[in-house]
Amino acid sequence: MNSKYEKVSCPTCGIDTKKKLVHKRDDGIGFYKCLQCNIEYASPRLVEKELLKLYEGDDWKDLSKYDDWTYENWKNNKEFHYYLVQENSNLVKKFLNKGSSVLDVGCDIGLTVKSLEENGYYSEGVEISSVGAKIAKEKTGITVHNMQLGDYQSDIKYDGVLLLDVLEHLYDPIKVLTECGDRMKQGGYIFIHVPHHGGISTRFKRFLHKKGLKKGYKHFGFPAHIYAFDRRSLKAILTKSGFETVHYESWPSSITNGKVNFFNYIFIHIIKKLALSDYIICVAKKV
Ligand SMILES: [Zn+2]
Repeated sequence: MNSKYEKVSCPTCGIDTKKKLVHKRDDGIGFYKCLQCNIEYASPRLVEKELLKLYEGDDWKDLSKYDDWTYENWKNNKEFHYYLVQENSNLVKKFLNKGSSVLDVGCDIGLTVKSLEENGYYSEGVEISSVGAKIAKEKTGITVHNMQLGDYQSDIKYDGVLLLDVLEHLYDPIKVLTECGDRMKQGGYIFIHVPHHGGISTRFKRFLHKKGLKKGYKHFGFPAHIYAFDRRSLKAILTKSGFETVHYESWPSSITNGKVNFFNYIFIHIIKKLALSDYIICVAKKV
């Protein structure tokens, strides 16, 4: 293992916490479960500088693919992520009134920011990838700050912060959650979407792997993803960062692909309500 990698312990509980090795890859990367908070984390994992490099350039997002892309076409044709963005907006609507201010941290090309704007919210984004931020600004037409959250200077105290598919990427998740809290009003809500190691499909695939019936081990997307969560680990990390968890749900792929119909409606909504799919949503209140 070279100097690009480092061994780490649970990001929530620290070094003296008992852990269980869940899976070891042939290259020596281990996936551990913290026996105190239940988070799953990769170790060794990329050092901070190398981790940040993943989000620069065309490897992460190909600018040329957006030459002919317009937000209006995306919306009219219900293209990629359209239904996911509707779920994001609907979730915010459940907790925040119109006119509330929302900061989307890791806003990618700004689709949710734009959708919230159209629904009567004041919204803007922060995005570390220069390519993502450029598309957000020039094509989606939102207000976006191309930097890490810690470098973003603003006097606004937001009613809501979105961290959608972000927490699992972060070198120091508690630091970023605390920074989010610092920029929020008391009683404001944070909305989190992360890989769920307790999802039924993840558990089933791991079971098959363990029994030798499936070759690949279902982990959470190393090297960019370095953690996976469940309700317990989300509660632990959010409590430590100054939040109180208030709501969990999950969105099966039928929802995010727009394939809910008469036949699967009840099943899909049970999975959603009980938060059983491979991504989990958590809403927490700043205390
Ligand atoms: Zn822990």
